[in-house]
Amino acid sequence: MLILKNCRELLTVKEDAKDLIGLMENASVLIKGERIEKIGSYEDLIKFIDGEDFEEIDCSGKVVMPGYVDSHTHLLFGKSRVDEYVASLTNSSVDVKKIVKLVGLEASIYYTKKATNEELLSSSLEKLNRMLLSGTTTVEIKSGYGIDKDTELRQLRLINKLKEKTPQTILSTYLGAHFFDVNMGKEKYIDFMVSEVLPIIYEEKLANFSDIWVDDGYYTAEDADRFLGSCLDFGLVPTLHSECYSAIGGAKVAAKLKAANIGHLNYLTRENASILAKNNVVGIVIPTTDFSVKHPKPFDPSYMIEEGMTLAIATNLNPGNWFESMDLAMALACRNHKMSEKYAIRAATLNGAKALRIEKDFGSIEVGKYADIQIRDSDSYKNVVYKIGVNEVVQVIKKGKKLFK
Ligand SMILES: [Zn+2]
Repeated sequence: MLILKNCRELLTVKEDAKDLIGLMENASVLIKGERIEKIGSYEDLIKFIDGEDFEEIDCSGKVVMPGYVDSHTHLLFGKSRVDEYVASLTNSSVDVKKIVKLVGLEASIYYTKKATNEELLSSSLEKLNRMLLSGTTTVEIKSGYGIDKDTELRQLRLINKLKEKTPQTILSTYLGAHFFDVNMGKEKYIDFMVSEVLPIIYEEKLANFSDIWVDDGYYTAEDADRFLGSCLDFGLVPTLHSECYSAIGGAKVAAKLKAANIGHLNYLTRENASILAKNNVVGIVIPTTDFSVKHPKPFDPSYMIEEGMTLAIATNLNPGNWFESMDLAMALACRNHKMSEKYAIRAATLNGAKALRIEKDFGSIEVGKYADIQIRDSDSYKNVVYKIGVNEVVQVIKKGKKLFK
């Protein structure tokens, strides 16, 4: 057993917390095996364990809160796109393609296809390890850098391998519909995914979720309805990238199919926010991408929250948007999008778990849930969004195990 003793601030982030974060001062947490056994005063916990062996961590100068759930990433990819990114920095009118031949998704696909399995695994593990050091204990990872059969399946199989190699909980998503094979055309490419790829994903249990990009120039709402509906037949829970650059009906499809989550939402209307809320579709907002692409229409969480939506914050880590830190994503959500620090903490923990439909076991510090906890050397939880670029995490507990010496 493990006791986190006398936490200066304990943030439970439990479901019914009136202040969103469930702040307790000087409380202690008892962990038995992988799960949280009891929360209370140190004296009560000592009485409760009644002479059994235990280890303790002194948390008197610490903030103790749930590990982060990063519910939207594309972290398994080939080479970085750093040259493209820096070329775009100094002059917004520069034609990046003149400086860097391959850009955008095309570049991500090219470099991912070229990379060996070993390269993809080791670079992904490096990222996951740094994410762990900054408090992220659960990560969703998408395919989508093949737009074919072999690379997409290779990505999903490698994501499954990562599950054995990292302490973090990993969930995987088939994003074959990130774009489409231009030689086949959209219609035929959807048929191809359904007849050629989905049966293998189902057979080998390669993914938890399906995903599609709905926007002008990508897929339509009708395409999404057909593709995600077929994915449901193969046991994949629908999710979407949508309303990032246009509002062409993705949100309504998400509501109709009861998608687990929908990401980006820059162009989401208030009416559709209400429809998503009624259908329990979690909105994933991505402050890092709005920052890195200087989005012309930054997402606005205020009316989404007013309409009753549950919002999660994610990094969207990908080669065009290299963010690993949830602290930073939260700081941007607060400063650039007027989100409160308390909501940001909930959005990065419990609401992330809800976006992945794992909130029964993850996302908060509550009796019965897995002990996925970050311990921060800090005098206030508010530092999470205040001390920019400072990593206060000194210990991470994953399923009851201390990960740092
Ligand atoms: Zn994405």
